[in-house]
Amino acid sequence: METEKKQPAPLQKSGAALESANFWRETSPLSHRPREKAAPLEGVRGEKACPPVSCRLCPRECGADRTVKDAKGLCGGGSLPRVARAALHQWEEPCISGARGSGTVFFSGCPLGCCFCQNREISAGNFGREISVGRLSEIFLELQDQGAHNINLVSPTQYTPWIVRALEDVRGKLDIPVVWNTGGYERVGTLRMLDGLVDIYLPDLKYKSAELAGRYSGAPDYFEQASAAILEMFRQTGKIRMGKDGTLERGLVIRHLCLPGARRDSWAVLEWIAENLPADGILISLMSQYTPYRPLPYKELNRRISSFEYNTVVDKALELGLRGFMQERSSAKEEYTPPFDLEGVQNKKRLREPSI
Ligand code: SF4
Repeated sequence: METEKKQPAPLQKSGAALESANFWRETSPLSHRPREKAAPLEGVRGEKACPPVSCRLCPRECGADRTVKDAKGLCGGGSLPRVARAALHQWEEPCISGARGSGTVFFSGCPLGCCFCQNREISAGNFGREISVGRLSEIFLELQDQGAHNINLVSPTQYTPWIVRALEDVRGKLDIPVVWNTGGYERVGTLRMLDGLVDIYLPDLKYKSAELAGRYSGAPDYFEQASAAILEMFRQTGKIRMGKDGTLERGLVIRHLCLPGARRDSWAVLEWIAENLPADGILISLMSQYTPYRPLPYKELNRRISSFEYNTVVDKALELGLRGFMQERSSAKEEYTPPFDLEGVQNKKRLREPSI
């Protein structure tokens, strides 16, 4: 059954707009400045082996032998795709969820190690079930049959070559956009494998500061890697293109989770976006949902962000002419994290051991 969604309203300067009951609100630009398209990045080697013998799919480049059953890379990735849930999801940005929902496939494991991750059960805990490439292809088509607006691949990086094969298998049958929903810690060479297969990139840009990235995610090179990756993503998609039904057909949406005590770094992230990408060609999504789900060793993270902190970040985005979405601060509830219960993962008719 379709759920009625409220139309996002334009965002005003901070304050009144934040009091609205809408979960997501669409920002409107203060100005559109013409910008140069980001220059293509050249000369980065891809990694096409499936499974890789010495994995360097992500910037960790840990060299794990992914051909060995039960071997695990630093991300938790093994020799077959591991999936925790495949189902329609309503809680993405309106242009992704639409009226019927986004066909999300949650992959287990993650190349990042964010101490505050709200999906720890599947990212650090690696909860999920191994499936074959053939089963992954079936899942894509099943989600399409259920009415999904898109196929939304969540935390997919560590399974890129397997996903490429699955997407190639359904070429000509899958006619909805494919979304690459990632923490942003990507190698450009790996992203090159997806050129022509992925329609929408939905990366985080979590930090500018190497110190914050090192402390909270164990990845001091995060910004260096993520910024290069985002330029490559934009090179592949070009400017955003909306469908007639208001959902996104193609383009780049950059998410930024505002963290307590880190508003200056959030400003720096937004300034980099405004300086390097066309404000009228991308969308941003400013998230206020940060919630400390468990006691953390960094005392500044053991609280939610304040309205003041979030408002200053929203105001900076508006000053820079960026467009996109903001969240109500009341949206920090566990109900937006789906149950990781293997829904949609197994083929109910054929329960057998997977093989590539
Ligand atoms: S994707 Fe996983 S196994 Fe591959 S290099 Fe990164 S951490 Fe290692």
